[in-house]
Amino acid sequence: MNIIIENVLKHQIEKESHKFICPHFPGGVMTPADLRKIADACEMFPNSKIKLSGEITIGNITDPKENDACRAKLGLSTFSIAGFAIRPVKVCAGGYTCDNNLQDSFSLALKLDKKFAGVDVPFKLIISVSGCGRCCSEPQVKDIGLVASRKGYAVYAGGAAGGKPRIAVKIADNVSDDRAVEIIEKIVQFYQKKGKPMERLGALIDKTGLELFKGDCGLNRNV
Ligand code: SF4
Repeated sequence: MNIIIENVLKHQIEKESHKFICPHFPGGVMTPADLRKIADACEMFPNSKIKLSGEITIGNITDPKENDACRAKLGLSTFSIAGFAIRPVKVCAGGYTCDNNLQDSFSLALKLDKKFAGVDVPFKLIISVSGCGRCCSEPQVKDIGLVASRKGYAVYAGGAAGGKPRIAVKIADNVSDDRAVEIIEKIVQFYQKKGKPMERLGALIDKTGLELFKGDCGLNRNV
């Protein structure tokens, strides 16, 4: 993609992203006070709309001044739903409201969120963590997925949902929390270095070849 088209696309996406406000709640955890803040901020703008999917999105505040005022009233950290950046880490309820988790997956997800959410990458990148093999946070259709077992974590890469779904491939197994963080760091570096603008990780893995990708990320090729 040439640099002019890339800049036009980035500008368009930034413009679009001003139409939305997405409060960032690490781990998807919020308090009644947070919910009140959202209600209070939205009540200031009668045309605002709230939509819940993987995140809470406040939309329909198209005037930039109102958008700024709404953010100020919210007083919560936010993220760009349309940016070229790593999204807030998705995590299942294991260790929070579900007791089936086989590792402290919730703490690991919070650690990953702190380290990676908002980091610049060529397109969107979603990391998902599940506390057991039921995979409630759908890690196998995310760019990077972790699935806990009694022996550690399986690491998946290259998944996607949406218009071009792709099932992620397992690239490591039975790794510790620290090793999982190291592997994700390598994958992110690989993506930053080799990904073209608007190219998802799965497409880049297909183009590179799975074995070369794993080698570049310092992984055993026989997993
Ligand atoms: S993946 Fe397992 S630990 Fe996580 S919410 Fe589902 S059942 Fe619970």
